[in-house]
Amino acid sequence: MTENRQLRLAQRPTGRVDGHTFRLTTEPLPTPGPGEALVKSLYLSIDPTNRIWITDMAQYMPPVQLDEVMRGYGIGQVVSSNDPDLAPGDLVNGMLGWQLYTLASKANPMQKLPAGMPIPIPALLGVCGATGLTAYFGLTDLGAPKAGETLLVSAASGAVGSVVGQIGKILGMRVVGITGGAEKCRHIVQDLGFDAAVDYRAADWRAQLKAATPNGIDVNFENVGGEIMDAVIHRMNLHSRLVLCGMISGYNEGEKSLGDFTQLLMKRITLRGFIILDYVPRFAEGAMQLIQWMMAGQLKHQETIVDGLERAPDALNMLFDGEKLGKLMVKLADPA
Ligand code: NDP
Repeated sequence: MTENRQLRLAQRPTGRVDGHTFRLTTEPLPTPGPGEALVKSLYLSIDPTNRIWITDMAQYMPPVQLDEVMRGYGIGQVVSSNDPDLAPGDLVNGMLGWQLYTLASKANPMQKLPAGMPIPIPALLGVCGATGLTAYFGLTDLGAPKAGETLLVSAASGAVGSVVGQIGKILGMRVVGITGGAEKCRHIVQDLGFDAAVDYRAADWRAQLKAATPNGIDVNFENVGGEIMDAVIHRMNLHSRLVLCGMISGYNEGEKSLGDFTQLLMKRITLRGFIILDYVPRFAEGAMQLIQWMMAGQLKHQETIVDGLERAPDALNMLFDGEKLGKLMVKLADPA
């Protein structure tokens, strides 16, 4: 292989990404300079935040610029190296970008994954990677969970939500998940052990929410925003906690999605905005706990894997259509 292929941002989308949003380019393979390593992309994580990065709204990282290679997190393998800490064959994670190869460098550092772990690469990207860590730190650090309390999580069959609910069960909580469709509701209750599910695509979802939370809600792990968040806030208890992790219902439309703020006041709800990057210094601690739970069979994981770089834009839309279960990723290559 002597060529690299990339998807570059061609225009900022309004609404869903489409055939005009990204441009496929081909370039010679980059050559690693002193202290650099050439990394082959194996799996790209497809995340709701990818959609935020291609807007020009104020956000927690600089927006991706037009003509820039699309930013993307993933797992790759070192092909050749002038970095004494990285050897050919090492697995690394970091900002690979939506491309087949990238350089690990001081400007674009990659973290080496411990060798010989009996964990499949997709699980290292999902349940034991950034999405699992989002669930773990968001719930345990900001949610202040207590056994016997009711935890509500939205986007509950997704990458983050499915882990949040399972950790809630490990901690002894009553766990209710909101997800779209009967099969996903069945999945989170029967396969993942949630206590109840609410199907937000059903006409009676508000009644389902009420029935599933007879004692109200003590912790809301919010992934969706909009009218779902609004309805959940109305079920929250006095002095309850709201971990604001995501508001995916507004990412394509750019709509502002908070309805009745007065309920936060009346119920003295603690709302904490959360971005996982604040927890980077504690990643090793979180990953160890997640791996332990997974190896003990307490944490199940599910991935939806789409093949090929060219399909990454379609995969991004799958997050908004809910056409997947668990963690969504694009596979670019098998490890050597
Ligand atoms: P998911 O795997 O949960 O995929 C997204 C899911 O969102 C879909 O499957 C769908 O659920 C649901 N969804 C999409 N649009 C709507 C809508 N209009 N109404 C209701 N549900 C909708 O993605 P992630 O687990 O990666 O991310 C979940 C949330 O967590 C996102 O908001 C994301 O931005 C946030 N996040 C935040 C981080 C942080 O550091 N703050 C880090 C990582 C993620 P269904 O399948 O049930 O239809």
